[in-house]
Amino acid sequence: MQNIAIFGATGSIGDSTLDVIHKHADRFSVYALSAHSRIRKLLELSLVHHPKVVIVPDVAAEKTFRQLWPSEVSMPEIRIGSEGLCATARDPEADTVVAAIVGTAGLPSAFAAAQAGKRILLANKEALVAAGSLFMETVRKNNATLLPLDSEHNAIFQCLPNGKYNAQVKRLILTASGGPFRNIDPAGLSAVTPEQACKHPNWSMGRKISIDSATMLNKGLEVIEAKWMFDVDASRIDVLVHPESTIHSLVEYIDGSLLAQLGNPDMRIPISYALGYPDRIESNTESFDFSRLLQLNFELPDYQRFPCLRLAFDALKSSQADCVVLNASNEVAVDYFLKNKIKFTDIAVTIEKMLDGFAGTVKGALCHIDDVFELDAMARSHTSELLNATH
Ligand code: NAD
Ligand code: MG
Repeated sequence: MQNIAIFGATGSIGDSTLDVIHKHADRFSVYALSAHSRIRKLLELSLVHHPKVVIVPDVAAEKTFRQLWPSEVSMPEIRIGSEGLCATARDPEADTVVAAIVGTAGLPSAFAAAQAGKRILLANKEALVAAGSLFMETVRKNNATLLPLDSEHNAIFQCLPNGKYNAQVKRLILTASGGPFRNIDPAGLSAVTPEQACKHPNWSMGRKISIDSATMLNKGLEVIEAKWMFDVDASRIDVLVHPESTIHSLVEYIDGSLLAQLGNPDMRIPISYALGYPDRIESNTESFDFSRLLQLNFELPDYQRFPCLRLAFDALKSSQADCVVLNASNEVAVDYFLKNKIKFTDIAVTIEKMLDGFAGTVKGALCHIDDVFELDAMARSHTSELLNATH
């Protein structure tokens, strides 16, 4: 029996993970669930899945949880904030941590899980973007097991021998749907609304990653994620636009063979793979219906239309500090866009300004995880200042 802690349980990845776990009660038990804003949903999930621990953001949320909890049912232990998440990541009773908090807010607890040598199912790509080498070094030193949930990385993991990159691999090819704005007139991009940007053609996901998919920064973050996860040089990672999201990514070998993983765009498939690894387990998804698949299309990415993708490649080539700034400024800009405070096209402009201006002033290497947290916080506050001054 694997005891699982799900951080970010009330989100889209949390939903899919709980759906798979629920169907395998003989294999998995829910040890802990965390939520940030949806405390009522956390309560409903807790009544179904019976975690021993729940983690809420603050004392007010704890009070709400206690008030709503039915008196006839025994209440889970309540832990609070980032401390509570990190303590749960280190908790000897938790075997597996599903890191599905969105943004760098998910980094401390994912890092704590790595330090504690846990089996980590990583959805939170921002952790690897901000702290790639430190995170991977911590995984290695503590014998943690890192399994990717991001569908592209999960596909690559499935196509590599034992999930490991080696000298027989020529390149990794990450596929991208191109998001909702792949074909619209670029002149119209400045007028798109958050609702339009959140309407992903193939996947149903949280709002932040949906906007990242619309700017294609998501693919840039995934290139950085792949670089660290598989320990491969950025020059060996390519992006290919594939609007159907049927091929989830490919590995090209030196003999010219291409291995790919295909399937419906349903996160329960990569989640089942990682949960069951090295076994295959039922994901409870529909079988692939070839009669509905008319064509598989491919295009090269359009860096003019999607400047964020270029900015991510530039940051990766430049430095770890630039990756932290890229990620932090994007999180702030996406939040402003979702609140209708800036235009869609301002997201790329903001990131570029932060990389050109602020990132150049960063001194010293990021040798410790606290350096990453500090730089992330500084980059966030500079981005807010920049946006408040100009909008
Ligand atoms: P979501 O917005 O649906 O859920 C986010 C979760 O994080 C929620 O449970 C929320 O309570 C929690 N959270 C938000 N802010 C927090 C904070 N400051 N502190 C603690 N918890 C906080 O997001 P999602 O779509 O489930 O994505 C989660 C992560 O998985 C992201 O990093 C995303 O890039 C990655 N991912 C998602 C998908 C997908 O299909 N949804 C695919 C690949 C990767
Ligand atoms: Mg992905």
